[in-house]
Amino acid sequence: LQSMQVAVIGSGSFAFAAARMVAQNAKESSASMFRDKVKIWVRPGSEFEGQSMIDIINEKHENPKYLPGIPLPENLEAFSDLDQVIEGADILVICTPHQYIRGILKQISGKVKSSTIAISLVKGLRVRADGPQLISQLVRRSLGTDCSVLMGANIADELAKEEFGEAVIGYDNIDNARILKKLFQRPYFRVNLIPDAAGAEMCGTLKNVVAIAAGLVEGLGYGANSKAAIMRQGLSEMMKFSIRLYPGIREETFLESCGVADLVATCYGGRNRMVAMEYAKRWLVGQPESFDALEAALLNGQKLQGVMTSEEVQEILATRGWERDFPLFTTINRIINYQLDPSFVVKYEEGAQRPV
Ligand code: 13P
Repeated sequence: LQSMQVAVIGSGSFAFAAARMVAQNAKESSASMFRDKVKIWVRPGSEFEGQSMIDIINEKHENPKYLPGIPLPENLEAFSDLDQVIEGADILVICTPHQYIRGILKQISGKVKSSTIAISLVKGLRVRADGPQLISQLVRRSLGTDCSVLMGANIADELAKEEFGEAVIGYDNIDNARILKKLFQRPYFRVNLIPDAAGAEMCGTLKNVVAIAAGLVEGLGYGANSKAAIMRQGLSEMMKFSIRLYPGIREETFLESCGVADLVATCYGGRNRMVAMEYAKRWLVGQPESFDALEAALLNGQKLQGVMTSEEVQEILATRGWERDFPLFTTINRIINYQLDPSFVVKYEEGAQRPV
Protein backbone atom coordinates (compact mmCIF):
# COMPACT_ATOMS: atom_id res chain seq x y z
CA LEU A 1 0.00 0.00 0.00
CA GLN A 2 1.34 3.43 -0.92
CA SER A 3 1.71 6.06 1.78
CA MET A 4 -0.86 8.80 1.60
CA GLN A 5 0.18 12.38 0.86
CA VAL A 6 -1.46 14.94 3.17
CA ALA A 7 -2.05 18.56 2.17
CA VAL A 8 -3.40 21.32 4.39
CA ILE A 9 -5.06 24.40 2.93
CA GLY A 10 -5.20 27.27 5.40
CA SER A 11 -2.75 29.46 7.18
CA GLY A 12 -4.45 30.74 10.31
CA SER A 13 -3.86 29.67 13.89
CA PHE A 14 -6.22 26.70 13.75
CA ALA A 15 -4.82 25.50 10.41
CA PHE A 16 -1.35 25.43 11.95
CA ALA A 17 -2.50 23.81 15.18
CA ALA A 18 -4.19 21.08 13.13
CA ALA A 19 -1.27 20.75 10.70
CA ARG A 20 1.05 20.32 13.67
CA MET A 21 -0.90 17.27 14.90
CA VAL A 22 -1.27 15.85 11.43
CA ALA A 23 2.47 16.18 10.74
CA GLN A 24 3.31 14.55 14.09
CA ASN A 25 1.08 11.62 13.17
CA ALA A 26 2.43 11.42 9.64
CA LYS A 27 5.93 11.12 11.03
CA GLU A 28 4.98 8.42 13.52
CA SER A 29 2.46 6.53 11.37
CA SER A 30 2.81 2.80 11.51
CA ALA A 31 3.64 1.00 8.27
CA SER A 32 4.14 4.47 6.77
CA MET A 33 0.42 4.93 6.36
CA PHE A 34 0.99 8.63 5.66
CA ARG A 35 3.86 10.14 3.73
CA ASP A 36 6.32 11.82 6.07
CA LYS A 37 6.20 15.25 4.46
CA VAL A 38 2.97 17.20 5.07
CA LYS A 39 2.39 20.25 2.88
CA ILE A 40 0.65 23.42 3.97
CA TRP A 41 -0.43 26.38 1.89
CA VAL A 42 0.47 29.82 3.13
CA ARG A 43 -1.07 32.78 1.37
CA PRO A 44 1.36 34.36 -1.10
CA GLY A 45 2.94 37.53 0.25
CA SER A 46 2.28 36.62 3.87
CA GLU A 47 4.95 38.26 6.03
CA PHE A 48 6.02 38.65 9.61
CA GLU A 49 8.19 41.62 10.56
CA GLY A 50 9.30 42.01 6.94
CA GLN A 51 10.27 38.36 6.50
CA SER A 52 8.44 35.87 4.30
CA MET A 53 6.24 33.55 6.38
CA ILE A 54 7.15 30.65 4.09
CA ASP A 55 10.85 31.10 4.89
CA ILE A 56 10.22 31.45 8.62
CA ILE A 57 8.09 28.30 8.73
CA ASN A 58 10.43 26.20 6.59
CA GLU A 59 13.65 27.37 8.23
CA LYS A 60 12.70 28.12 11.83
CA HIS A 61 9.76 25.70 12.09
CA GLU A 62 7.57 28.17 13.87
CA ASN A 63 4.62 30.42 13.03
CA PRO A 64 5.48 33.54 15.05
CA LYS A 65 2.37 35.37 13.89
CA TYR A 66 -0.28 32.94 15.03
CA LEU A 67 1.42 30.38 17.29
CA PRO A 68 4.43 32.19 18.74
CA GLY A 69 6.89 30.11 20.72
CA ILE A 70 5.38 26.79 19.63
CA PRO A 71 7.67 24.52 17.60
CA LEU A 72 6.29 23.06 14.39
CA PRO A 73 7.36 19.62 13.16
CA GLU A 74 10.17 19.73 10.63
CA ASN A 75 8.23 17.50 8.24
CA LEU A 76 5.62 20.25 7.82
CA GLU A 77 6.56 22.21 4.71
CA ALA A 78 4.95 25.48 3.61
CA PHE A 79 4.29 26.52 0.02
CA SER A 80 2.72 29.64 -1.46
CA ASP A 81 1.62 27.90 -4.64
CA LEU A 82 -1.70 26.19 -4.11
CA ASP A 83 -1.17 23.82 -7.06
CA GLN A 84 2.06 22.58 -5.54
CA VAL A 85 0.30 21.87 -2.25
CA ILE A 86 -2.53 19.83 -3.72
CA GLU A 87 -0.40 17.97 -6.27
CA GLY A 88 -0.72 14.27 -5.56
CA ALA A 89 -2.78 14.87 -2.38
CA ASP A 90 -4.53 11.76 -1.10
CA ILE A 91 -5.90 13.63 1.93
CA LEU A 92 -6.92 17.26 1.82
CA VAL A 93 -7.41 19.14 5.09
CA ILE A 94 -9.31 22.38 4.51
CA CYS A 95 -9.12 25.06 7.17
CA THR A 96 -9.56 28.61 5.91
CA PRO A 97 -11.92 31.36 7.09
CA HIS A 98 -15.24 30.50 5.47
CA GLN A 99 -15.35 33.68 3.36
CA TYR A 100 -12.37 32.48 1.28
CA ILE A 101 -13.45 28.92 0.67
CA ARG A 102 -15.33 29.41 -2.58
CA GLY A 103 -12.45 31.16 -4.30
CA ILE A 104 -10.01 28.49 -3.18
CA LEU A 105 -12.23 25.62 -4.30
CA LYS A 106 -12.63 27.29 -7.70
CA GLN A 107 -8.86 27.40 -8.05
CA ILE A 108 -8.36 23.73 -7.26
CA SER A 109 -11.48 22.23 -8.81
CA GLY A 110 -10.57 19.70 -11.50
CA LYS A 111 -7.06 19.31 -10.11
CA VAL A 112 -7.83 16.95 -7.24
CA LYS A 113 -8.41 13.25 -7.90
CA SER A 114 -11.87 11.97 -6.99
CA SER A 115 -10.42 9.39 -4.60
CA THR A 116 -8.94 12.16 -2.44
CA ILE A 117 -10.27 12.13 1.10
CA ALA A 118 -11.23 15.66 2.07
CA ILE A 119 -11.96 16.94 5.55
CA SER A 120 -13.24 20.42 6.35
CA LEU A 121 -12.38 22.18 9.60
CA VAL A 122 -14.20 25.30 8.42
CA LYS A 123 -16.93 26.64 10.67
CA GLY A 124 -19.34 28.54 8.43
CA LEU A 125 -22.21 28.45 5.97
CA ARG A 126 -22.81 29.63 2.48
CA VAL A 127 -26.15 31.05 1.41
CA ARG A 128 -27.14 30.77 -2.21
CA ALA A 129 -30.30 31.97 -3.94
CA ASP A 130 -31.81 28.49 -3.65
CA GLY A 131 -30.87 27.93 -0.04
CA PRO A 132 -28.07 27.27 2.43
CA GLN A 133 -25.07 25.13 1.69
CA LEU A 134 -22.68 23.60 4.18
CA ILE A 135 -18.99 23.94 3.44
CA SER A 136 -18.64 20.14 3.30
CA GLN A 137 -21.38 20.03 0.66
CA LEU A 138 -19.63 22.76 -1.28
CA VAL A 139 -16.36 20.78 -1.16
CA ARG A 140 -18.07 17.58 -2.31
CA ARG A 141 -19.76 19.41 -5.16
CA SER A 142 -16.72 21.43 -6.26
CA LEU A 143 -14.10 18.70 -6.02
CA GLY A 144 -16.17 15.56 -6.55
CA THR A 145 -14.58 13.98 -3.47
CA ASP A 146 -15.93 12.68 -0.19
CA CYS A 147 -15.73 15.26 2.60
CA SER A 148 -15.89 14.68 6.36
CA VAL A 149 -15.74 17.45 8.97
CA LEU A 150 -13.68 17.84 12.12
CA MET A 151 -15.47 19.96 14.70
CA GLY A 152 -15.00 20.44 18.42
CA ALA A 153 -13.98 22.67 21.30
CA ASN A 154 -10.65 23.49 19.77
CA ILE A 155 -9.12 26.82 20.68
CA ALA A 156 -6.04 26.82 18.45
CA ASP A 157 -3.26 27.82 20.82
CA GLU A 158 -4.40 25.39 23.54
CA LEU A 159 -4.31 22.61 20.99
CA ALA A 160 -0.87 23.66 19.82
CA LYS A 161 0.36 23.60 23.43
CA GLU A 162 -0.86 20.01 23.58
CA GLU A 163 -3.40 20.63 26.32
CA PHE A 164 -5.98 17.85 26.51
CA GLY A 165 -8.90 18.28 24.12
CA GLU A 166 -11.25 16.41 21.84
CA ALA A 167 -13.23 16.70 18.62
CA VAL A 168 -15.58 14.72 16.45
CA ILE A 169 -15.19 13.69 12.88
CA GLY A 170 -18.63 13.80 11.25
CA TYR A 171 -18.63 11.50 8.25
CA ASP A 172 -20.59 10.06 5.37
CA ASN A 173 -17.95 7.45 4.55
CA ILE A 174 -16.82 5.41 7.55
CA ASP A 175 -13.73 3.97 5.85
CA ASN A 176 -12.43 7.45 5.13
CA ALA A 177 -13.35 8.61 8.64
CA ARG A 178 -11.26 5.82 10.18
CA ILE A 179 -8.24 6.93 8.17
CA LEU A 180 -8.85 10.53 9.20
CA LYS A 181 -9.08 9.54 12.85
CA LYS A 182 -5.60 8.03 12.57
CA LEU A 183 -4.41 11.28 11.05
CA PHE A 184 -5.79 13.55 13.78
CA GLN A 185 -5.95 11.61 17.04
CA ARG A 186 -3.05 12.32 19.40
CA PRO A 187 -2.42 11.22 22.99
CA TYR A 188 -3.71 14.65 24.09
CA PHE A 189 -6.44 14.91 21.44
CA ARG A 190 -9.32 12.44 21.42
CA VAL A 191 -11.37 12.00 18.26
CA ASN A 192 -14.85 10.43 18.15
CA LEU A 193 -16.48 9.41 14.91
CA ILE A 194 -20.13 10.34 14.39
CA PRO A 195 -22.29 9.59 11.35
CA ASP A 196 -23.69 13.13 11.25
CA ALA A 197 -21.45 15.43 9.23
CA ALA A 198 -24.21 18.01 8.72
CA GLY A 199 -25.06 18.13 12.44
CA ALA A 200 -21.44 18.55 13.50
CA GLU A 201 -20.90 21.27 10.93
CA MET A 202 -24.05 23.17 11.87
CA CYS A 203 -22.97 23.08 15.53
CA GLY A 204 -19.52 24.46 14.75
CA THR A 205 -20.98 27.17 12.57
CA LEU A 206 -23.86 28.41 14.70
CA LYS A 207 -22.03 28.53 17.99
CA ASN A 208 -20.00 31.45 16.58
CA VAL A 209 -23.21 33.51 16.56
CA VAL A 210 -24.06 32.55 20.15
CA ALA A 211 -20.50 33.44 21.19
CA ILE A 212 -21.17 37.00 20.07
CA ALA A 213 -24.13 37.12 22.45
CA ALA A 214 -22.02 35.66 25.26
CA GLY A 215 -19.35 38.32 24.68
CA LEU A 216 -21.94 41.10 24.69
CA VAL A 217 -23.39 39.86 27.98
CA GLU A 218 -19.96 39.81 29.55
CA GLY A 219 -19.02 43.21 28.15
CA LEU A 220 -22.19 44.66 29.64
CA GLY A 221 -20.93 43.49 33.03
CA TYR A 222 -23.37 40.65 33.68
CA GLY A 223 -22.26 37.53 35.53
CA ALA A 224 -22.50 33.78 35.19
CA ASN A 225 -26.29 33.46 35.41
CA SER A 226 -26.93 35.79 32.50
CA LYS A 227 -24.25 34.25 30.34
CA ALA A 228 -25.51 30.74 31.04
CA ALA A 229 -29.07 31.77 30.20
CA ILE A 230 -27.95 33.21 26.87
CA MET A 231 -25.90 30.12 26.08
CA ARG A 232 -28.89 27.89 26.86
CA GLN A 233 -31.16 29.91 24.59
CA GLY A 234 -28.45 29.90 21.95
CA LEU A 235 -28.05 26.13 22.09
CA SER A 236 -31.77 25.67 21.82
CA GLU A 237 -31.95 27.91 18.71
CA MET A 238 -28.92 26.12 17.24
CA MET A 239 -30.73 22.80 17.54
CA LYS A 240 -34.04 24.05 16.23
CA PHE A 241 -32.47 25.83 13.26
CA SER A 242 -30.22 22.91 12.32
CA ILE A 243 -32.98 20.30 12.46
CA ARG A 244 -35.44 22.49 10.57
CA LEU A 245 -32.94 22.92 7.76
CA TYR A 246 -31.63 19.36 7.79
CA PRO A 247 -34.18 17.02 9.38
CA GLY A 248 -31.68 14.14 9.33
CA ILE A 249 -29.47 15.84 11.95
CA ARG A 250 -29.35 13.91 15.22
CA GLU A 251 -30.15 15.55 18.56
CA GLU A 252 -27.34 13.66 20.30
CA THR A 253 -24.81 15.44 18.09
CA PHE A 254 -25.45 18.56 20.19
CA LEU A 255 -24.07 16.74 23.24
CA GLU A 256 -20.81 15.93 21.49
CA SER A 257 -17.64 18.02 21.47
CA CYS A 258 -18.87 19.84 18.37
CA GLY A 259 -22.03 20.92 20.20
CA VAL A 260 -22.19 21.88 23.81
CA ALA A 261 -18.42 21.66 24.39
CA ASP A 262 -17.49 23.92 21.47
CA LEU A 263 -20.23 26.32 22.54
CA VAL A 264 -18.81 26.55 26.06
CA ALA A 265 -15.19 26.87 24.90
CA THR A 266 -15.98 29.56 22.34
CA CYS A 267 -18.27 31.52 24.67
CA TYR A 268 -15.44 31.64 27.24
CA GLY A 269 -12.22 31.63 25.25
CA GLY A 270 -12.95 32.46 21.62
CA ARG A 271 -12.33 35.46 19.40
CA ASN A 272 -16.00 36.09 18.63
CA ARG A 273 -16.66 36.46 22.33
CA MET A 274 -13.62 38.69 22.78
CA VAL A 275 -14.54 41.15 20.03
CA ALA A 276 -18.21 41.28 21.11
CA MET A 277 -17.20 41.86 24.72
CA GLU A 278 -15.07 44.81 23.65
CA TYR A 279 -17.92 46.14 21.52
CA ALA A 280 -20.29 46.17 24.49
CA LYS A 281 -17.69 47.66 26.85
CA ARG A 282 -17.04 50.57 24.48
CA TRP A 283 -20.73 51.14 23.94
CA LEU A 284 -21.24 51.28 27.72
CA VAL A 285 -18.69 54.08 28.12
CA GLY A 286 -20.05 56.02 25.14
CA GLN A 287 -17.10 55.29 22.83
CA PRO A 288 -18.61 52.88 20.32
CA GLU A 289 -16.45 51.13 17.71
CA SER A 290 -17.64 49.04 14.76
CA PHE A 291 -17.16 45.28 14.68
CA ASP A 292 -14.92 45.69 11.64
CA ALA A 293 -12.65 48.12 13.46
CA LEU A 294 -12.47 45.89 16.52
CA GLU A 295 -11.72 42.83 14.37
CA ALA A 296 -8.84 44.71 12.75
CA ALA A 297 -7.57 46.05 16.08
CA LEU A 298 -7.82 42.87 18.13
CA LEU A 299 -7.33 39.88 15.85
CA ASN A 300 -3.95 40.43 14.23
CA GLY A 301 -5.25 39.77 10.73
CA GLN A 302 -7.46 36.84 11.70
CA LYS A 303 -11.07 36.82 10.59
CA LEU A 304 -14.12 36.93 12.80
CA GLN A 305 -16.61 34.25 11.74
CA GLY A 306 -19.67 34.99 13.85
CA VAL A 307 -20.65 38.35 12.37
CA MET A 308 -20.70 37.00 8.84
CA THR A 309 -22.44 33.81 9.94
CA SER A 310 -25.12 35.87 11.67
CA GLU A 311 -25.79 37.64 8.36
CA GLU A 312 -26.02 34.32 6.56
CA VAL A 313 -28.30 32.78 9.17
CA GLN A 314 -30.52 35.87 9.14
CA GLU A 315 -30.90 35.71 5.38
CA ILE A 316 -32.25 32.20 5.80
CA LEU A 317 -34.54 33.22 8.70
CA ALA A 318 -35.89 36.22 6.77
CA THR A 319 -36.46 34.30 3.53
CA ARG A 320 -38.36 31.58 5.35
CA GLY A 321 -40.28 33.85 7.72
CA TRP A 322 -38.67 32.22 10.78
CA GLU A 323 -37.37 35.33 12.55
CA ARG A 324 -39.86 35.22 15.43
CA ASP A 325 -38.97 31.58 16.11
CA PHE A 326 -35.32 32.51 16.64
CA PRO A 327 -35.41 35.60 18.85
CA LEU A 328 -31.79 35.43 20.07
CA PHE A 329 -30.34 34.92 16.57
CA THR A 330 -32.52 37.77 15.27
CA THR A 331 -31.60 40.12 18.10
CA ILE A 332 -27.88 39.40 17.67
CA ASN A 333 -28.21 40.19 13.98
CA ARG A 334 -29.91 43.51 14.72
CA ILE A 335 -27.18 44.37 17.22
CA ILE A 336 -24.34 43.64 14.80
CA ASN A 337 -26.13 45.78 12.20
CA TYR A 338 -26.41 48.62 14.74
CA GLN A 339 -30.21 48.53 14.62
CA LEU A 340 -30.40 47.67 18.32
CA ASP A 341 -27.98 48.53 21.07
CA PRO A 342 -26.18 45.66 22.83
CA SER A 343 -28.36 45.87 25.95
CA PHE A 344 -31.06 44.03 23.97
CA VAL A 345 -29.04 40.83 24.15
CA VAL A 346 -30.67 40.07 27.50
CA LYS A 347 -34.07 41.23 26.18
CA TYR A 348 -33.99 39.16 23.02
CA GLU A 349 -37.73 38.45 22.93
CA GLU A 350 -38.37 42.18 22.82
CA GLY A 351 -35.42 42.76 20.48
CA ALA A 352 -36.79 40.34 17.90
CA GLN A 353 -40.27 41.93 18.00
CA ARG A 354 -39.13 45.52 17.61
CA PRO A 355 -39.68 47.10 14.22
CA VAL A 356 -36.32 48.14 12.76
P1 13P B 1 -13.47 31.74 17.71
O1 13P B 1 -13.40 31.94 16.22
O2 13P B 1 -14.56 32.56 18.36
O3 13P B 1 -12.14 31.94 18.36
O4 13P B 1 -13.91 30.22 17.91
C1 13P B 1 -13.03 29.28 18.39
C2 13P B 1 -13.50 27.91 18.13
O5 13P B 1 -14.17 27.63 17.16
C3 13P B 1 -13.10 26.91 19.12
O6 13P B 1 -13.54 25.64 18.81
